[in-house]
Amino acid sequence: MSTRPTKEPIAVPPEIQTRLEAAGLRRTLATRAVLGLFLANPQGTLSHAQALVSLTARGLDINRVTLYRLLDRLAACGVLQRHADDGARTWRYGLADASEGTVPRFECDACHRQFRLTEASAPTQAATNDLFRTLAGLGHQGLRVDVSIHGTCASCVPSAETGGKPLP
Ligand SMILES: [Zn+2]
Repeated sequence: MSTRPTKEPIAVPPEIQTRLEAAGLRRTLATRAVLGLFLANPQGTLSHAQALVSLTARGLDINRVTLYRLLDRLAACGVLQRHADDGARTWRYGLADASEGTVPRFECDACHRQFRLTEASAPTQAATNDLFRTLAGLGHQGLRVDVSIHGTCASCVPSAETGGKPLP
């Protein structure tokens, strides 16, 4: 790697640092650059191809297979969340929710922004506890629940007021 990213590196939050260390992931230049992409736009999601383009544009020389493995490892240790993009038959990655409890997530299928529905955290946690109890009754061990709702966000819903166009 002969080129240096010109942008200031974004500080890695302690809760993410803890997860990286727990997973034995070294803070390589590539790891920090990938995290920087997501930290710079915490609500956004990126496909592998989009991440590759952004990293290359920032002067990082990263191979596509290496990036795949890195994204998967970051998802496996809970730093990123991976979800299927049904339309494009690919995975999209976004920063995982570091807060306690189960916060449902809403993702707009049009602009791929994510919204955390913290208001729905308590009822979702109650439903999650019920699910875990049901699983335990069957002898299974539930560890984690992802509640993800897909749809169209307020900005992308065509309405008469915006002339049917999404707001900027
Ligand atoms: Zn939208």
